[in-house]
Amino acid sequence: MSRFWSDHVSSLSPYVAGEQPRVPDLLKLNTNENPYGPSPKALQAITQAVGNRLRLYPDNESKALREAVAALHGIDAAQVFVGNGSDEVLAHVFNGLFRRAGRTLLMPDVTYSFYRTYCVLYDIDVQLVPLTDDFSICASDYTLAGGNAPAGIIFANPNAPTGIAMPLSDIEAIARANPDTPVVVDEAYVDFGAESASTLLGQYDNILVIHTMSKSRSLAGLRVGFAMGSPEIINGLNRIKDSFNSYPLDSLAQVAAVAAIQDTAYFDSTRHAIMQARQVLIKRLAGLGFDVLPSAANFVFARHPHHDAFGLSQALRERNILVRHFENQRIDQFLRITVGTPEECERLCINLAEICQ
Ligand SMILES: *Cc1c(COP(=O)(O)O)cnc(C)c1O
Repeated sequence: MSRFWSDHVSSLSPYVAGEQPRVPDLLKLNTNENPYGPSPKALQAITQAVGNRLRLYPDNESKALREAVAALHGIDAAQVFVGNGSDEVLAHVFNGLFRRAGRTLLMPDVTYSFYRTYCVLYDIDVQLVPLTDDFSICASDYTLAGGNAPAGIIFANPNAPTGIAMPLSDIEAIARANPDTPVVVDEAYVDFGAESASTLLGQYDNILVIHTMSKSRSLAGLRVGFAMGSPEIINGLNRIKDSFNSYPLDSLAQVAAVAAIQDTAYFDSTRHAIMQARQVLIKRLAGLGFDVLPSAANFVFARHPHHDAFGLSQALRERNILVRHFENQRIDQFLRITVGTPEECERLCINLAEICQ
């Protein structure tokens, strides 16, 4: 509380990001960063763009980047919105689509925790829909809503922090049952083994698909995210953006993001390496007695029947290994562990084996 703050500031509940300590030899498996680093072509594009042209403002419409995204997904550039990380894109989505008088936002009780933060920031009425007992999203919970159309529906697919993916047919059923509601699918992890709802955009003008370059493209430090949907929805987001910051992406981010998108070979080889390491990690963790949820992401969500999750995370920290633990009641016995290189996964498992014995 401060006498200088606007009225709503003290009642916000800000997102708590995973920590980023600078410790030598730290194994950082807590924020789902990609161990392989960005495409060399993206780095080269940045080097080439460093120069006197930085005196100019960047392209405020990020045209080249929107065209690259559109080409990748077989849609029109008018269906693409870009932002300074998908967190910013999501903020504009909550502000621009979900603030509806007398209508409520639906989302899972366990999902990306930033969504709750935006609901508080933008004063959005939200109804939490519990995941099933096996931590999956039940589509019919979102298709049978009687009464007023929801203000919006949002979930991550694969969901975070469970890693569980939903079939495309379920997403389609939700979109079909809610034609007057934006159905927002946050696909931060889709490239690690789920089906993208971007293929439904031609049929459903209410679907909005959100992607980030932070995970599968290994560019978390660059801050690039985008949304794909009908021009009607994208126009609304542009109105919000141009009322907030009309230059969200700097020139270096724009050129590097285009180069990363076009480097399909690097993208495929690194994401497949992570998917392979994930399968090995899941087997190793199961061998140590963990229950591991089926993951289609670059992390696994695992609990041990005899070891407290917070205790495990602390014991790992003493050994210079960071994983993520969430306090929320339903998931407080789980650890979310980012899939690293095979060597990193092995170092984690050797340490867990010692701790758990
Ligand atoms: C990482 C993540 C984001 C944020 O990505 P940025 O583009 O780095 O802001 C959004 N949604 C989910 C589900 C994520 O896990």
